[in-house]
Amino acid sequence: MSDETTADEPERNASVIVVGGGVAGLSAALFTAKNGLETTVFDTDETWMHKAHLFNYLGIGSVGGSEFMATARQQVDDFGADRRQGEEVTAVRESGDGFAVETDEGEYESDYVVLATGANRDLAEELGVDFAEDGTVDVGVEMETSVEGAYATGAMVRPEEWQAAIAVGDGAAAALNILSSERGEHYHDFDVPADAERVFGELVAE
Ligand SMILES: Cc1cc2nc3c(=O)[nH]c(=O)nc-3n(C[C@H](O)[C@H](O)[C@H](O)COP(=O)(O)OP(=O)(O)OC[C@H]3O[C@@H](n4cnc5c(N)ncnc54)[C@H](O)[C@@H]3O)c2cc1C
Repeated sequence: MSDETTADEPERNASVIVVGGGVAGLSAALFTAKNGLETTVFDTDETWMHKAHLFNYLGIGSVGGSEFMATARQQVDDFGADRRQGEEVTAVRESGDGFAVETDEGEYESDYVVLATGANRDLAEELGVDFAEDGTVDVGVEMETSVEGAYATGAMVRPEEWQAAIAVGDGAAAALNILSSERGEHYHDFDVPADAERVFGELVAE
């Protein structure tokens, strides 16, 4: 995170639509919004996190799933994502070099789309991405599907390994791959203590 403009700064302000604002989707949105991409999240708030209580999230001793979500949403909002809570995505298709996304309230266009709809894979199927033999969406470690620019994350890409920490990692991997694509080289979202002081001032944790 830096105020300095460098030669490898992308020329355009690419847009990203994240479908699903559970842990995978919000993780992707955090990374893309924080690093300057125009980020919109659509979410119907049926995340499994509302049923969970985490004891297995590294770095957090114990936290309620809904409490975790409240913090995550605030964090994503603070970095400038447009989070459209309660707006359901009804269709996603390729359009030109990007994607057209229909919701119950309107139509949107984006350069990239990140699918993060939990175990529901209907939109991925409709978009026409490849599936693995076990019925999950087929992605590699970068989380990109067989449709260029379309990513799948979280519970939809794994048969049973449904853990918050894994979903968060999936979202981060997808976002970093998008950021790298935009910059034409591997992008590292590395912050240092001076960044924390600049962003949070006196509120910075010891
Ligand atoms: C009872 C229970 C206990 C659990 N306990 C733990 C635990 O202790 N530790 C742990 O690590 N994990 C636990 N989990 C699992 C954890 O909750 C999941 O791994 C995690 O929520 C998956 O994240 P996700 O982002 O893939 O999906 P989700 O968190 O389910 O988020 C998907 C989001 O997408 C939204 N969405 C879906 N379709 C659309 C659409 N068309 N338009 C807009 N929005 C849409 C949904 O409303 C939802 O908010 C538990 C799960 C359950 C059910």
